[in-house]
Amino acid sequence: MKPYPLLFKPTLKQRIWGGSKIKEIFGYPSSYEYIGEAWVASDHPEGKSLIINGEFSGESLGVLLAKCPEWFANINLKKFPLLVKLLDANDNLSIQVHPDDEYAMRNENGESGKAECWYVIDSEPGAEIILGHNARNRSQFIQLSKENKWDELLVRVPARAGDFFFIPSGTVHAIGKGILLLEVQQNSDITYRIYDYDRIGLGGQKRDLHFEKAIDVIDFQSTSYEPKPYTVEETGSPKTTLVACDYFTVEKWLINGSYDFKPFNVFLLIFVISGKGELIYNNGSILLTKGISIMIPANMGKCQIVGKIEAIVSYSNYSPPHGSEI
Ligand code: ZN
Repeated sequence: MKPYPLLFKPTLKQRIWGGSKIKEIFGYPSSYEYIGEAWVASDHPEGKSLIINGEFSGESLGVLLAKCPEWFANINLKKFPLLVKLLDANDNLSIQVHPDDEYAMRNENGESGKAECWYVIDSEPGAEIILGHNARNRSQFIQLSKENKWDELLVRVPARAGDFFFIPSGTVHAIGKGILLLEVQQNSDITYRIYDYDRIGLGGQKRDLHFEKAIDVIDFQSTSYEPKPYTVEETGSPKTTLVACDYFTVEKWLINGSYDFKPFNVFLLIFVISGKGELIYNNGSILLTKGISIMIPANMGKCQIVGKIEAIVSYSNYSPPHGSEI
């Protein structure tokens, strides 16, 4: 079957901490008042992106992966490895941590762990994220949290549009109020909540915490993480690599004019942040506007983008350490 670029319909998630920016900026139609998340490329059971163009219109990525594995990689992937979503935090999100593959495999029914990263699209003045902690060791972390000394314990970092943060598994983190970002992560939904500001949830009760498991997986070795400043390249390649870890590579593409590219043995996920242009392939083309989410199949061959486009492009690095299967 001839590969073609796949367009997705996002899955929108209503959240108590959500806002109106996803609707306002990206124009996704929805009756929800507060949208917290839009899953723009996903095959997770909690929100699968459906293909909306071509012969696979109406299908999920999992169905396509079973039918045409060569569209995804030059090896057989067991499941779609990434999840890309927009998050609009109109309130502080809970302080959390995610396990690595090994811990999740043992304790969460063979699930994947979760490394994630954030590209900040918009932020209100003074907006901050939480990234890391100040505890010298495990017992000090437990002590400070029991005493509710969260300001002392947690590391706060300002977050402005264009900033990028990588959050390996084991890193204590939280998105702060007033931040709209694009998250690229391993395809996993396993979160251990450490602290939720003692808030009462929609059901009239506090949300569950998972303190014991969190303590099992928190990294007590690493020193606080320095966010990587983003620099605009005036000449040369329009591509900037934001992160390349064991699981994924994330790039920022700033195209002004035309740019030729070809996937290299693995699919590319392109999310258009802003601008306007056209994706040209074989004998077809697709209009690119902000909020468009596309997968370019691994076996697509040469493509070209023409126009003025700011996009976040991600792909899987499908050789996890220790030889475990994806
Ligand atoms: Zn997280």
